[in-house]
Amino acid sequence: MKKQYHREITSKALGLFFHQQALDEIIVANLEQDALRYQVAHDHFHYDSNSFAAGDAYCKEQRHLTLTAVQDGRASEARQAFGRLTHTVQDLYAHSNYVALWREENPGILPDGIDPESAFVLQNARLHSGKLYYPLEALSFIPVLNSFMLPLLPKDSHAWMNLDDPGRPGFDFALAAAIKRTRSEYEQLAGHFSKQEVSVLTGK
Ligand SMILES: [Zn+2]
Repeated sequence: MKKQYHREITSKALGLFFHQQALDEIIVANLEQDALRYQVAHDHFHYDSNSFAAGDAYCKEQRHLTLTAVQDGRASEARQAFGRLTHTVQDLYAHSNYVALWREENPGILPDGIDPESAFVLQNARLHSGKLYYPLEALSFIPVLNSFMLPLLPKDSHAWMNLDDPGRPGFDFALAAAIKRTRSEYEQLAGHFSKQEVSVLTGK
């Protein structure tokens, strides 16, 4: 996902529950995951290159860090871990064929109807995510070069598969799934907390 959409998804999913300052900390940590140093050898941050097992393990680790930091009253650490978690779960829908598989199983249903945790999709042998074919892939990130690079890249590349912005077909489904999943991650974590602990995380 492009930065502005990570920001939009996170705000729409969590805005109701969080104080603005806490939400801003989460968004900063979310966006930091796309820093240049995390674009190479960090596929699991973005569910790139079929890193489903590593991506899931990373999410589990960030949930655990969020939980323990909240329980110890370390609000900023909790928000940073939760922000990292939101980035990775949001990228699942933009970087894989999750949306295509879900639409195949649920034809005619509008974006808001998407189930972000469909067992049919998550356990599907055809679920795969875009591979990063460097160096050509890096050039495809430059808008004016994208149309020249696409024909040179395989169909299972990130360049062909991504739903990172509204120019890509199915983007609205990826956006809706990411919003629902982000909210669900919060609700599941909050289910483990006392009222006081919830406010450590949310600042409310
Ligand atoms: Zn990313």
